[in-house]
Amino acid sequence: MTPTAARTRAADPPATSLDLPVTRIPGIGAESAKLLERMNIHTIGDLLWHLPSRFDDFSKFVPLRRLVPNASQTAVATLGRISQRRTASGKLMTEAELAEEDGTPTDVRATWFGRAFVKETHREGERVRISGKVRFFGRTLQFSQPTLERADAEAVHTGRLVPIYPLTEGIKPGQMRRWLHTAIEGGMRRTGLVGEVAEPLPPAIRERHRLPDIASALRQVHFPDDVERLFAARRRLAFDELLVLQLALAQRRARWTAQASALPLFVPDAELARWIGELPFALTGAQQKSFGEIRGDLGKRVPMSRLLEGDVGSGKTVVAALAARIAAGSGAQTALMAPTELLAEQHARSLAALFANGGPTHALLTSSVTGDRRREILAGLADGSIDVAVGTHALVEEHVAFKRLALAVVDEQHRFGVRQRATFREKGTGTDPHLLLTTATPIPQTLNQTIYRDLDISVIDELPLGRQPIVTHLRTPEQLPRVWEGVRLAVRRGQQAFVVTPRIDPAEEGGDDVPSAIATEKDLQKEELRGLRLALMHGRMPAKERDAVMRRFADGEVDVLVATTVVEVGIDIPNATVMVVLGAERFGLAQLHQLRGRIGRGSERSYCVLVSDASDSERLAAMTAKKRDDDGREVPLDGFDLAKRDLAIRGAGEFLGERQSGVPELRIVDLADVDPELISETAEEADRILAGDAALARSEHAELSRAVDQLWRRYALA
Ligand code: ADP
Ligand code: MG
Repeated sequence: MTPTAARTRAADPPATSLDLPVTRIPGIGAESAKLLERMNIHTIGDLLWHLPSRFDDFSKFVPLRRLVPNASQTAVATLGRISQRRTASGKLMTEAELAEEDGTPTDVRATWFGRAFVKETHREGERVRISGKVRFFGRTLQFSQPTLERADAEAVHTGRLVPIYPLTEGIKPGQMRRWLHTAIEGGMRRTGLVGEVAEPLPPAIRERHRLPDIASALRQVHFPDDVERLFAARRRLAFDELLVLQLALAQRRARWTAQASALPLFVPDAELARWIGELPFALTGAQQKSFGEIRGDLGKRVPMSRLLEGDVGSGKTVVAALAARIAAGSGAQTALMAPTELLAEQHARSLAALFANGGPTHALLTSSVTGDRRREILAGLADGSIDVAVGTHALVEEHVAFKRLALAVVDEQHRFGVRQRATFREKGTGTDPHLLLTTATPIPQTLNQTIYRDLDISVIDELPLGRQPIVTHLRTPEQLPRVWEGVRLAVRRGQQAFVVTPRIDPAEEGGDDVPSAIATEKDLQKEELRGLRLALMHGRMPAKERDAVMRRFADGEVDVLVATTVVEVGIDIPNATVMVVLGAERFGLAQLHQLRGRIGRGSERSYCVLVSDASDSERLAAMTAKKRDDDGREVPLDGFDLAKRDLAIRGAGEFLGERQSGVPELRIVDLADVDPELISETAEEADRILAGDAALARSEHAELSRAVDQLWRRYALA
């Protein structure tokens, strides 16, 4: 947790102490400053926004005679004799006898290993606050490695809610805490340095939402008087961060709407009906509905910003392809971007199939397309003879020139956050392309209303007909022989299988216990799956080789593909019916769900086998859990259910792993556990503010406006 979007350190004059280097804080020398730099802390202002990750509750005092074993406690004590000796193993041990505050002797001791300074800085008879873990040692109770502070000193390290800060090697917990305490309380003015932080919220807003002022919020979030005030302070900082995000996204959306500079794309109903009729399958109701929404957007001058959300295998590609066809039918071009070259290749193949009976011209443009072919494609995009470019998002970054780009489709958008979304948009020249993002990751309400607030959302909540539910089994490594028999059986029926491992290579950290793709492939080829056509694929292979392997698998020249999670996203091989995941406990729920989504795409029954020693894993149990669908059939949990389950299991989202949720873009708020009410409060407040002051030009909004600018600057965009 570092600076916030709402961070309001004034960058302009009048300069404040907050812009001074950290070395101006007593106790921070050049050495320490260097260490702090590693954590991106340069100025006093930066330091103030280095927030604790948790607290030790050392706020309650217990008389020594009431201490209990095996708990962390705090007491006020009088130091007795302090002695030092070497233990048998040669470590320096310091031991202090402790008496009650009033001097009554007790048996309680305090012991430290290796902290020579305890004896140097404290003396017998001194009254101290002592906080730490208490244990039985023989028949007496001991504080082991406690924190010690003179009782007449201000409570910083003991006797309070003690902040625990994220650290970097070389900085001790006590040091960081001391520096922060000085930064919060120190300074020239009576209010402390924290008093110099500019207040971004007008008083009316603070009153309406019962928020403390920024200075006391910062003070309380570091050195809280009590838990209530800590919560109130955190709520205040979260409020600021969310409000600024809401303002930024709402302003941007308003700008897009006002500029309304997209090409309206339109084709007559009859033509559209013909295209849909020519598809190799009938669209599901959910596909039709989503496509209808997209078509509606495409017809407008306001550029579309739509997220197409649908579980793996729900058929998002065809919907995107139809959108591209509308663009082509209107004489404009589409860029279809995938997170990997492999997926781009697959999309190119899908388009070839979907557009088999005439339709847009398209070309694959990845880094493996070089030389004359590349020049040809670039020329085709520039002169408009190619309707659809399929590639990775390097398409945008490399300034590929289009004659008339009107639609950008970003597949598997969970890899792209707010920042990247903006890139696609703002790179357009003259006109803004319509933007269609797809994701298989369920977007929880909290994200919908925050970092995706500038998007409209379409949901494909229905799988194509004829899909059989995938059967998932948990197996132990001992049961593998039966699993391989099953694989052989599937291959005999002309089907294909994936075997996925957590590691690439046996030499990697984790040793022999962790299945690796390289060793597994070798072993299977030699023993259990001898005679079958095996292939290996992993992330260290050059993209070209991976694509070649994948192509062979897609063409049915390979029976069993042994791979790492490079097969995780998007790969579509309807003939693959078995997914064996080795070391399954090492994968997150989202990953397991994605992997399982690679099979069950054809009409044959498919099997997912999760192999693990960890039979008690809640995650693995979630993968085999069942629910009843609308028709009363028992079906596995879908991505949405699993996301909820994952939240319940681990509190916050592994499902929303960093990259998926875009959460690192927020610095204080953990969106996974933010109070939904705070989200709606900030959304409403943002609307209210912008309704009266759309440009944030009023003086009372100056700090908010600055914070919004800063947020965009952080995304490196004006
Ligand atoms: P995802 O939503 O995971 O990207 P895809 O677009 O790759 O899914 O589609 C998965 C598979 O389902 C593909 O083989 C595709 O051809 C097929 N498919 C898509 N829509 C339908 C449909 N309406 N009926 C039958 N098969 C479909
Ligand atoms: Mg897909």
